[in-house]
Amino acid sequence: AHLARIDAVDEKVHAFLHVDREGALAQARAVDAKREAGEKLGPLAGVPLALKDIFTTKDMPTTVGSKILEGWVPPYDATLTQRLRAADVVILGKTNMDEFAMGSSTENSAYGPTGNPWDLTRIPGGSGGGSSAALASYEAPLAIGTDTGGSIRQPAAVTGTVGVKPTYGGVSRYGMVAFSSSLDQGGPCARTVLDAALLHEAVAGHDPMDSTSIDAPVPPVVEAARNGSVQGMRVGVVKQFRGEGYQAGVLQRFDESVELMRSLGATIVELDCPSFDLALSAYYLIAPSECSSNLARFDAMRYGLRVGDDGTRSAEDVTALTREAGFGDEVKRRIILGTYALSSGYYDAYYGSAQKVRTLITQDFEKAFEQVDVIVSPTTPTTAFPIGERADDPMAMYLADLCTIPTNLAGNSAMSLPCGLAPEDGLPVGLQIIAPAMKDDRLYKVGAAVE
Ligand code: GLN
Repeated sequence: AHLARIDAVDEKVHAFLHVDREGALAQARAVDAKREAGEKLGPLAGVPLALKDIFTTKDMPTTVGSKILEGWVPPYDATLTQRLRAADVVILGKTNMDEFAMGSSTENSAYGPTGNPWDLTRIPGGSGGGSSAALASYEAPLAIGTDTGGSIRQPAAVTGTVGVKPTYGGVSRYGMVAFSSSLDQGGPCARTVLDAALLHEAVAGHDPMDSTSIDAPVPPVVEAARNGSVQGMRVGVVKQFRGEGYQAGVLQRFDESVELMRSLGATIVELDCPSFDLALSAYYLIAPSECSSNLARFDAMRYGLRVGDDGTRSAEDVTALTREAGFGDEVKRRIILGTYALSSGYYDAYYGSAQKVRTLITQDFEKAFEQVDVIVSPTTPTTAFPIGERADDPMAMYLADLCTIPTNLAGNSAMSLPCGLAPEDGLPVGLQIIAPAMKDDRLYKVGAAVE
């Protein structure tokens, strides 16, 4: 049924870069055979899923939305891919994304943009716009995204779906193509809080192949999603998460959600987190710096594209020609920014200062979580904007992640879930819930209470 739905709508939506029809059907039949043989199956056995094209898959190409990896089929499965297979999830294919997960609209994909199923002339968010669009268009009931600065939550918000950035280290990064390693985190996308929890539990947990993976039990997210409640909880509202640039209808729906929590027994606490105002600036130094280092591996020798290798050129020239042809504008911008910020004369002024801001943000969260159990905010300042509107204005694009970035810098967990449609444009608004590190279950408890 989902393959038929993809056939019917994906030409317009363009959520998928690759559909593995044969593989998906074979996997579905294998699950049927297990069921018939009386084998005990897990809760997600046979459930189709759309996988962001940033996770390696040994039977499907992995492009990361870039021409530099066009047609590359990895020799191994990411840990997350292995866990999906072990849970008998049926992987339908790989979803569209901003190149190397750099963007907030999926317009930076080298393979063309994805449409928002609510209005195909608008962006589905990014970088994981393909995964969220697949959910919103009913092409898949589950999807996987990655969130470095908001790429799970922001697309969830603008497509009216649920997305969770787990605690940093909660889901293995092994086989997840690196953008900014100290921020990158894979996580679940779904249409309901409980579906997201079931997927979260299937993919989370310690992995010796990832040195930053947390060696502790996975927070009880499914149990929390089945027992939604805000009764007696202290819910923080941060002063810095509103003001100029926020759409009136977004703030209206957010305020209604806060009132709903109050009426369900929560205590609302006003919080001041002054360093959050610096989060965007710090992120756009740290993320490009790590990107400039991580993307050095795309040298035309090891993987994917190779341009100009005609027997007359040096390896250096082939590398340069390949990068020129294979990387898009935003990726080049980040590599140049990051290389500059890390260069010896500027390191302390830029990268060093950004790391200090990161510490201040972590401390603001620590102080906040002494007073509250969770923090809530709008996920994005506006609803989905038209395709093309911010394409030539990187600063305007970066603002889409105003509310999501502090969480990545601090490494704690956060969810976006739908909280109604903005009255002025009828488009979905996202409510963000933020919890301390390794308290991901609180997201699901609160999310299930207000969804
Ligand atoms: N939009 C942000 C960026 O462009 C976040 C991307 C992400 O979370 N992968 O870097």
